[in-house]
Parts: sequence; C-alpha cells; structure tokens
Amino acid sequence: MCKTVYLSLGSNMGAKITNIKNAVEAIGAIEGIRVIKTSSLYATEPWGKKDQEGFINAAVEIVTSLTPGQLLERLQEIEIKMGRQPSEKWGPRIIDIDILLFGDEVLESRKLTVPHPHMRNRLFVLIPLEEINSAIRFPDDGMDIKEVLARVIDREGNQGITKI
Ligand code: AMP
Repeated sequence: MCKTVYLSLGSNMGAKITNIKNAVEAIGAIEGIRVIKTSSLYATEPWGKKDQEGFINAAVEIVTSLTPGQLLERLQEIEIKMGRQPSEKWGPRIIDIDILLFGDEVLESRKLTVPHPHMRNRLFVLIPLEEINSAIRFPDDGMDIKEVLARVIDREGNQGITKI
C-alpha cells in the first residue's frame, strides 16, 4: 500500500540550488517512489553550528510503496552518491535528506525516528512543509502544522529564513 511521505532537503556546500534540484530528481527516479510536490526553495541561516555557510532548504511530498527502512536506505544512497562525506553533527553538507512524516506512522528505532525529532522547532522544515500541505496534522499528538508553525514564530521570530 502506498503512503504519503514528506521529506526535508538541505544543502550548504557547492552549487546548493543545483544540489537540491538534483536530489529531487534522484528521489523521483527511485523505483517505488513518485514525487507529488516540491516546495519553493528557502535560504536559511545555519542551524546549530553557526560558523558555516547558509543553507538552501526545501520540502518534498512523495508517495511510496517502500517501507520506512527501505526508503531511508535509498535516500542515504543518494546522499552518498552525491558526494556527502560523513561529517560532524550539523556540519557542512552537499545534501541532507530527512524523512519528516511517513503516512500516519510513529516510529522510533536506532536508525529512524518519525515524525522527525527536530522538525517541530525548525522553521526551515515547517515553512516549506506548510507550503506544500497546510492541512498536515502530526500523527503522534494530533497537532496542526499551522499551530506548530505559529508557536515557533511567536517564540523565535523567523529564524532568518527567506523564500528565494
Ligand atoms: P543526519 O546527519 O541529519 O543526516 O542524520 C542521519 C542519521 O539520522 C542517520 O543515521 C539516520 O539513521 C538517523 N535518522 C533518524 N531519524 C531519521 C529521519 N526521520 N530521517 C533521516 N534520518 C534519520
């Protein structure tokens, strides 16, 4: 059975916009995945580790017949093929692909946590996600994406994000 899945993409090395576009194309070329929607691109200040280049971020909606584990493996293969090196936590990267939501599943294993554990605090994830589907509800606590987004903006301003 196919599930609707939301991904977050980020790049802060090299030709960042091209990296995001190439990653979306590579995701669409995987057997068992269809890309439904891609958000606008957003320029964002670095998160966590601040002394690095800014990021370009986007969100993507796909439908897939893959299991969560299979999907994670395919996405990691794309990251490696595109030249991502194992690097420090939150350090520079050619491409980072995270699984945000996998249908209405709530998963927690050594390899995969869904909904993505940090997504509720990161506007560079929430803003593009809300752009492609403003009706999303979190499967674990039932919260509405618009509500989550408004709370973060209230608390922290816009975290230095601009649509490009
Ligand atoms: P990162 O450096 O942010 O790409 O983190 C990669 C690691 O996070 C991998 O070892 C994954 O197994 C793990 N991980 C846990 N949950 C997720 C998720 N929802 N999406 C992508 N990676 C995840």
